Parts: sequence; structure tokens; C-alpha cells
Amino acid sequence: MSSTRNKIALELGGTQTSFETFKGQPAEEIYGSLVFGEKAQKEYLSKDVYKKLRATIVSGDALDASIANQVAQGMKEWALDHDASHYTHWFVPMTGLSAEKHDSFIVPSGAGDEGVIMEFNGKALVKGEPDASSFPSGGIRATFEARGYTAWDPSSPAFLQENRNGVTLTIPTAFVSYTEEALDHKTPLLRSQQALNIQAMRLLKLFGNKTSKHVFTTLGPEQEYFLIDRRYFEQRPDLIATGRTLFGAAPYRGQELEDHYFAPIKERIIDYMQDLDRELYRLGIPAKTRHNEVAPAQFELAPMFERSTVGADHNAVVMETMKRVALRHGLVCLLHEKPFAGINGSGKHNNWSMATDDGENLLEPGNTPHENAQFLTFLVATISAVDQYAELLRIGVSGPGNDHRLGANEAPPAIISIFLGEQLQDIVNQLEKGTPKHSKKGGTMQLGVSILPPLPMDATDRNRTSPFAFTGNKFEFRAVGSTAMCHWPNTILNTIVAESLDTIATQLEKAKGNFNGVLAGILQKEIKAHKRVIFNGNGYAKEWHIEAAKRGLPNLVSTIEAQHAMEKPEYKKLFAKYKVLSPREYDSREEIGWERYVKVQNIEANATLDIARCQILPVAIGYQERVATAIAATKAAAGSAQRGQIAVLDRVAQLGSELVDALNELEGLISKANSQSSLSKVATCFKEEVIPSTLKVRRIVDTLEGYVDDASWPLPKYREMLFQY
Ligand code: ADP
Ligand code: MG
Repeated sequence: MSSTRNKIALELGGTQTSFETFKGQPAEEIYGSLVFGEKAQKEYLSKDVYKKLRATIVSGDALDASIANQVAQGMKEWALDHDASHYTHWFVPMTGLSAEKHDSFIVPSGAGDEGVIMEFNGKALVKGEPDASSFPSGGIRATFEARGYTAWDPSSPAFLQENRNGVTLTIPTAFVSYTEEALDHKTPLLRSQQALNIQAMRLLKLFGNKTSKHVFTTLGPEQEYFLIDRRYFEQRPDLIATGRTLFGAAPYRGQELEDHYFAPIKERIIDYMQDLDRELYRLGIPAKTRHNEVAPAQFELAPMFERSTVGADHNAVVMETMKRVALRHGLVCLLHEKPFAGINGSGKHNNWSMATDDGENLLEPGNTPHENAQFLTFLVATISAVDQYAELLRIGVSGPGNDHRLGANEAPPAIISIFLGEQLQDIVNQLEKGTPKHSKKGGTMQLGVSILPPLPMDATDRNRTSPFAFTGNKFEFRAVGSTAMCHWPNTILNTIVAESLDTIATQLEKAKGNFNGVLAGILQKEIKAHKRVIFNGNGYAKEWHIEAAKRGLPNLVSTIEAQHAMEKPEYKKLFAKYKVLSPREYDSREEIGWERYVKVQNIEANATLDIARCQILPVAIGYQERVATAIAATKAAAGSAQRGQIAVLDRVAQLGSELVDALNELEGLISKANSQSSLSKVATCFKEEVIPSTLKVRRIVDTLEGYVDDASWPLPKYREMLFQY
């Protein structure tokens, strides 16, 4: 056992599996080659069908259902020309992963003994019927009511999944039950998009906009991830089962040198990143930025922003592609929010804005934001929404993984606040008192070296500690977890902002004649009511927690509190009002939240128990025995007292015995938790009793790691996983 681990360390470096090289394939040539996008649509569809489909995709026009057959024909021809043999409806159930069930195109021809033909029609494109009984539904559907339907989402482009032995046409869909209720994250996102569109268009009309047909939200999710050597991963049952290390002493070198962030990218990693980017380009996913992140072995990928509904699907594909490509480099990609204790965790910065189909970013302040009444209106609407529904935003990012991260000093606090920056803060201050008269300007930076050019200075600095920060012409919602599907947090964001826009538009529509006066009054009132959510200082500071409490801002410290806050009737009403989630659909999400929490905690607690009892304890006892034997042998041979060795033996024996006690306690508490009378009580017992008990086990094991000889320790250590590629 011992030698396996050490041998791996020696082998590292030169043993990657081979992969195609990217050189000689310019991005602009391969980009979108696996996507049934504009180019393929033009080539494979008739002019008329092409135009109708584009109107739905680009301008959000209602889908003309009569074109489905022809689109299906075109899509099939295109897919067959690219060697596809199967198709699948791809969807985003509430499991945390995407889902797919493949069907081949084959249909027996003639009498059945004449071979096969490849068939695909409008019906198969538009509707699928996977058995829904094994997906979480949160009580919407009993297991015997198995019917679920997938419905083609033409706004999210179909693509090809290319594997070693074949190609699968993959069609993004929404997933609903027989009772027309959403069983997925996509349906509510699409509905929220529609709700926001209606309200934003009302406002734009009031501002005299005659050209835009549609408003949609935009999403650019920056994705953080870890890469570790696959052979280490395979020896960590905790990583395999839970995505995070349940044990591991702090390495003597962690991230304290602050030398990983933006550091030169190691050869093995850049090979991976280039391969990943190439895969993403072919899938029409605009991967833009890549760099080393703060923690050792941690990295980030940021794509160019897209419409939220497409961007959210694409992020799911990015996560899958990251994991898939890693394996062929002998690496494993870890997306968990906190794979390593004491080392920064991973998040997903959810950059969000609103835009029109004719290209206007509604959160673009321009050079003189104080004069830009339309911008100020959309800005103020967002501020009001975030203040009023801070709890919902927090709920949207809650979950067992993010509990390790939110509120720790590396991620935004669990208190939702907004960073505006100097320039906008100044305008908001002016707005509160009357009509804003001026905008602070950036000026130029003088660097004191004559050969360096003067740099134009931004009007505002950045703030890394804010959960919801205005960053130039968009908001960056930083509390989303790295494993999360973006769909749910963006559904919440779109819905709460739809309501603020609605409130403002309703008042303005009544204004008649005195538009500017009424608007100024509304914005003033909104700012006065909601300015408490704005905070430009250090979100990590203790003082902020005190100050936030004084301001009455909610602080839902963990998933348990967030889950309870979900019970508030006003939240359920909001989703019903904008037809994003029916009360039953809303309740089902609450139910799934509890279920998921309890399941994850059970897995982690039982894994802790098993690994500590069956892998660590035997090794500790084995070491104890060797020391004892050595002491006895030495004493027999030399007759000396060996004070030091006896102390080591005592310590290891002591820790071993503490471990046995702690494991027995943990075992009892897991049973206790699971015998509580309701899911929320089970969850609370896990949080209050089981988790602390697992941490006690961990402390003992991590201490033992510092005593037992390195060669026999069964788990790859932090210093190995984080530093050796
Ligand atoms: P940072 O310096 O914040 O890490 P990055 O360049 O890594 O910046 O990421 C910024 C992200 O914000 C990108 O994904 C980018 O596409 C996205 N973004 C830019 N403008 C918008 C917008 N209007 N709406 C949504 N996302 C946007
Ligand atoms: Mg970034």
C-alpha cells in the first residue's frame, strides 16, 4: 500500500496520455463547427424556414410550430454529414448535472429485413418522453406517475457530442411533468426571461424606444476549478464520493506566498487549457480568459457573455467538458466549492446585465451617467430588487458545498450587499437629493516614468469582497458556487428585477405629461427605501457584519437558514405573479433543497466513518505496533529506556483510541439525525451535531497524519495533490 503512493510521485511528469494537438487549427476556422448554428441553419434549411427560426432565436418571436418538420430534416442531414448516429434531448434536471438519453436514428426499412434508414422528424425534435420517475421532483410527482416530457428549446443551439466511437446530435430542451410542471432548471429560467422582457419593454417604450423588440438578460459566468493528477484522485475515496477531501493535514506550504495567482502556467496545465479551449470553440462556446487562480492547482475560465438562457446551458457544457478533457491529460477536474480545507475554494462569478435585441446594454452608464435617465432607472430597479429580495438571492446560491465557502474570508459574505463604486455612489447620492448634475470623471494616471504612456483612469476602483458588485456595465453576482448550474440564481435575479421594473413602469404609465418629474420622484423614493443594501467597503471585515445587522440586512449563514427563509409566502407569491414558478413548483424546490442537503451530509458523514475506520485506523494501529515492536526489540538488545520512542508510541496509541471513540460517537449521531421526524429536522441535526462530529474525527486523523510514517499513510496528501503535476 505504502509504495503505491510514493511510486506515483516519482512517475509524475512524463506520463500523460496522448491527445490531438491544437496547433494549426485557428479558432475562427473551428469555431462552432459542432453547432447547428446560423451557418449550418442557412446551409441546411430553406430560406423561409431559416428566416422563421432566426426570428425566434434572435428576436424572441413565438416559434412557428409548422416549421418543426423541416428544421428536423435539416438538422438530421447536417448531423449525418457529421457522422452522427444518435440524437438526444439534453436537459437540466434538479440533480445538479445535465441529463441525456440517446436514441439512434435507425428505423428498419421495408419488411424489416431490408436494413435500416436514418429517420428524424419534427415530432422527435419538438418532444421527447424520457421516464421521469427517477429524477428529483420534490413531491410534484409520485414515482408511479412516471411521465415527463422534454420540449425543444430553439433558443439554445443544438450541438454534436463527439466521442471516440461516434457522434450524438444533442438538442437542448426544457423538462416538464405530465401535469405541465417544471421538473428542471431551464423552464423557470426561460419563463423568468420572458417576465423580465415584458416589464423591461414597457419601460423602454416609456423612454421612447421604438426599435427594440425584445429584452433579454446576459450572462458571463467565470468558472473556477482545480486540477489534480488522476492517480492521486483514484486513491482518494472521499474525492471520488463527495468531490472534496474529508481529511488532509494542512501542507507546510499552502497559498501563503501568493505566487499562484496569474503565475506562468505550467506546461501540463496549458496543454490542458488549450485542448479545453479548442473543444469549447468547436462547440460554439466563446472561451475567452484563462489563468491560474489564488490557490495552488486552482484555475479559472471565463467565456464571453451570452444570453442568459444560452450562457447557462453553455456553462453546464463547459463544466462537463472540463471534466472530460482533464481525463485525457491524466488529470481530474474538481468543481466542488471547497475541495481542500484551508485553501481557497471555488466559485462562479455570475456576470449579469440586461440587453436589447438591437444591441443596447441597459446597464451601460455611458460617459455621463447622471444624464442617462434610462440607465439610472434600470440601475435603481436592480438595487431595489436586490434589497427587497436579498434572501432569495442568498437562497439561490445555497447548498452544502457553498456552506464551506460563503462567509469565509475568500468568498463574499452570506450577507447580500451591492458595491456601486465611487462614481455611481456619487450619482445615487445626488439622486437622493434631487436631479443629479454631474458625473465624477476618471482622469489619467501618471506613472512617474516618462517612457510609460499616461493611462486613462477608471472612474471607480474594484471591490473583490462584495457579493453583488457593479463592474462597469454589468453586475457581478459573486456568491454562486462553482458546481452550481447558473439557471436557478439567474431565474431569481430575472424575476426580482422584473418586479421592480413592473413597479416603476406602472407608476410611469400613469404619469401623463410629467414624465421626468414623476421619474425623478420614483427614483428618489426607491433609493431612500433601498440604499441600505449599498456597501462599498470591505465585505470581509467583522465591522460590516455589525453594520449590516444594524441596517437590518438579512444574514442567512447557511443552507439551513436559507431553506427556512424559503418558506416565506411573499417569495412564493412573487414567482406565481410572474408565472415563473407555480406555488407547487416553488414548494418542490424547497423540498429538493432539504433532500439534497440531507443526502449530501449522509454521504459525507458515512464516508468519513468508513475511511477513518477502515483505512486510517488500521494504518495507525499498524504503525503503533511497529513502534512497540521496535521498542521491545531495542530494549531486549540494548536494555535502554528509549524515552522519545515511548512518547511517540503513547501519542499514536492515544490518538488511535480517541479516534475509536470519535467514530463511535459519529456513528450514533448519524443514526440520531436520520431518525428525526421531518427532513428539516434531519438536516438541522446534521448541521448541529453530525458535522461537528465529523470535524472532530477529521482533527484526530489530520493529527495522526503528522505522526504516522509517510510511506504507509493511505491517502495522497495535500502537498502531493496540490503541488505535483
Ligand atoms: P474579472 O476581471 O472580473 O475576473 P473576467 O474578464 O474574468 O473579469 O470576466 C468578466 C466576465 O463578465 C466575462 O465572462 C464577460 O463576458 C462578462 N461580461 C462582460 N460584459 C457583460 C454583460 N454585459 N453581461 C454579462 N456578462 C458580461
Ligand atoms: Mg475573472
